[in-house]
Formats: sequence, C-alpha cells, structure tokens
Amino acid sequence: MTNGDTEVAIIGGGAAGIAAGRRLRDAGIDSLLIEARPRLGGRAWTVSDASGFPLDLGCGWLHSADRNPWVAIAEGQGRTIDRTPPPWARPSLPIGFSLAEQRDFSNAMERFYARVETAAAREPDIAAAEVLEPGGRWNNLINAVGTYISGAELTRLSARDFANYDDNGVNWRVVEGFGATIAASGAELTMALDCPVRRIDHSGQRLKVETTKGAITADHAIVTLPTTVLAQNEGLFMPALPEKTQAARGLPLGLNDKLFLSLDGAEEFDQDTRLLGAIDRSATATYHLRPFGRPQIEVYFGGQLASDLEAQGERAFFDFAVSELVGLLGGAFARRLKPIQLHRWGADPFARGSYSYALPGMADCRARLAAPVDGRLFFAGEACSCGDFSTAQGAWITGVSAADQAIAARQSK
Ligand SMILES: Cc1cc2nc3c(=O)[nH]c(=O)nc-3n(C[C@H](O)[C@H](O)[C@H](O)COP(=O)(O)OP(=O)(O)OC[C@H]3O[C@@H](n4cnc5c(N)ncnc54)[C@H](O)[C@@H]3O)c2cc1C
Repeated sequence: MTNGDTEVAIIGGGAAGIAAGRRLRDAGIDSLLIEARPRLGGRAWTVSDASGFPLDLGCGWLHSADRNPWVAIAEGQGRTIDRTPPPWARPSLPIGFSLAEQRDFSNAMERFYARVETAAAREPDIAAAEVLEPGGRWNNLINAVGTYISGAELTRLSARDFANYDDNGVNWRVVEGFGATIAASGAELTMALDCPVRRIDHSGQRLKVETTKGAITADHAIVTLPTTVLAQNEGLFMPALPEKTQAARGLPLGLNDKLFLSLDGAEEFDQDTRLLGAIDRSATATYHLRPFGRPQIEVYFGGQLASDLEAQGERAFFDFAVSELVGLLGGAFARRLKPIQLHRWGADPFARGSYSYALPGMADCRARLAAPVDGRLFFAGEACSCGDFSTAQGAWITGVSAADQAIAARQSK
C-alpha cells in the first residue's frame, strides 16, 4: 500500500473493526480496514495443532450465546455450534476439592456477587476486593476466579464495572474455532494488512491516517485499538486527545493466557470437565480436560500469575501446569503431558494484554472512550461496551454502533 483515500478508515481488524467494516459495506459505504498484523482477528485467533485440531488462543466461548451475534455468523459460515455447558458451570472433578467444598465455595461466590451488586449501587465506587468476607475461607479462590474473568486481581477491579458485566450464563463454542469464524467474516472487506497505524492527524479538513506503508486520507475514522495501545501512545492523535488517553488508562487490559497440552490416555476423564490447580491460593491455573472430547488439556492462567510466568518465558507455563497436575494426580501424570501451543498476550505488541477491566472509580471510562470526537472520529472495541466488555460480542456490538454513527454523520453532511 502507498497513499490512498477512503470514506471511512477503520483502524484495527479485530472483531470490532470487522463488524464496522461489514456494516459500512452493507450500507454501500467505501471503507478501508487498516490492521497492523498480517492477519485479521486480533485477539480472536485460531491456529491448528499437528493433529489438525483448531485451537483458540484468544476468545473461545460465545458468552451470552443465545443473544450473541457471532452465533448466526458462525452458522452462516456452515460451522458447528457446540452447546455443551461449560466446565465452570458444572461441578469440578472432586480431586483436591470435594463436592462438599465445591458447594461451600459456590455459596461463598454467590454471596460475594451479591455484595458486589450492593457496593456497585453506592458512592464512591470501590475495589471488588473490599467486599470479600474478612478472613473468608474462599477469598483466595474467589480472587483466582476473578483473574479468570477479568485478568486482574480483585484489588484492581472496580466493583461497579464488575457488576455491570452482563452475562446471561449461556456459553457455547464454535467447533472449528471462534477466531477462525471472526477472521473469515472479514475476508471480503477491503483491507491493508501488516500496516501499523502511527498517527491519526485530524487537524485538517480531511483526516490523514499515517501508516508504516503510506498515508490514507478519509472523511471519518473508526478507531478500534486495544486500550493498552491507546493509553501508551499519546502521539497517536494529532492534535492529541487527552480525554481518550485518560479513558483508556482507566481501562487496562487484564492478562489471560491459554496453554494447550496433549494428554496421553485422555479417555480416563469425561470430556469437558475441570480441575482447579489449588483451592487455597490465588496464583493457580484452571484445567479444562478433554475440550470437545480431544486428547488435550486447555489450561487457563490469569492476572499476576500469568504476568509472572510471561516474564519467565513459555516453558514456565508448562512447568507450572505440570507441577499443579502432578500435585493432584501423582508423579506419573507428568509423562502423559506435552505442550502444544501457548500465546503470551501480554508480550504481543498489538494487544499488550487480553481484555479490559476498569480500575476502581473508572467504570464511566467505557462511555468516555466510546464517545465520538468532532463527528468524524468514532470509537469501538470491547472496552467501549458498558455491559459486554471483554468479549467478542461486545467488540461486535460497538463496531456496528460506531459504523452507524459514521453513517449518520455522513448523511447529515
Ligand atoms: C486468552 C483470551 C481468552 C479470551 N476468551 C474469550 C472468550 O472466551 N469469549 C469472548 O467473547 N472473548 C474472549 N476474549 C476476548 C476477545 O478476544 C476480545 O474481547 C475481542 O477479540 C476484542 O476485539 P476488538 O476488536 O475489540 O480488539 P482486537 O481484537 O484487539 O482488535 C484490535 C486490532 O487492532 C490491531 N492494532 C493494534 N495496534 C495497531 C496499530 N498501531 N495499527 C493498526 N492496527 C493495530 C490489532 O492487531 C488488532 O487486530 C479472550 C481474549 C483472550 C486474549
């Protein structure tokens, strides 16, 4: 790509950018999707392992699935929706965590959620950790679950934002890969891949989007960059937009990384079951056994644990998982495990984290981030959603909304 011109420049080719691009295409409006990576999808990414199994290194679950727009898109692509209830919605294997303890924990979790709701309705907003029962037996495990949900410890999470998350408990999967579905849904759009945007100059009559491969002039832009990228790059907009930098800083990306392991003799376990690495500490992983019935374990690491392991290198994830599994299942279990795939989202320069959470007092940053500027810069991405943040459906909904705003602005010209 050298220099070019378009009506609407869409910055970022993840779920939000693709949703915006599709909406504009359906409205007959010319747009160009500008993506830094050599692929579409962003934090949605399916790869294949040596046996050909699709592995979702980013989003895997269709949350609030019976109202999730990606379900119809996946079905439209001829993909298979798996409706098996997720392992976290059923009892875990009673290894190191008896069924009685699981019931006790589940009650404690419900009480915690109820207290978060109450706190969310009060001023000022507080950290979710503040409503833990003082000395509560399950506090560390509740914190661990918090890191799986938000990618950060409860001390960092706004209680109000945590309570705003709108999940209806229906969770499905795409057998062929959620990331593959999202990437394929953008395949027909006009795009520039491998093309990082350096600056969005909105000082002149038309916008000028400067990339490593040339400049694009446009009437409107839809910015779908992760909050980390917005927060760490004050020079992205010219003139600067400090209100966007501030909003993005209130919404950091939490960290979650998935490690896929192959498992010999996997039939010993029922498919889609779960083990918790430990029940008495926050720095523990969760183990999804035989996802889709495959001879694998999908390991989920969140928050500070994921961050510490990223700093030590990929092997550290495998070593940690093996040590927890051996602790639960015995020394011989180690020989049955091999690492297949891991992606370190914190070290990924175009993500720098996994999904957004709001710092205490910062829940309103979502609406501030989503607000348009001068009727020609529009914002989308999971962090802009007040209820579906951190999800691919939140990214979709905000992408469509930003495209609608651009369409309306164009019509009012
Ligand atoms: C491990 C993990 C597990 C997850 N699990 C789930 C799940 O089960 N269900 C769910 O719904 N969601 C899940 N998510 C979250 C989901 O993947 C994201 O919320 C969603 O994909 C975000 O889409 P987006 O378009 O807002 O952002 P992104 O996908 O990040 O899109 C932004 C795009 O901007 C690009 N970009 C960055 N910098 C530049 C630049 N300078 N110039 C041009 N382009 C740039 C990026 O490469 C990226 O493609 C998970 C995420 C992770 C990491």
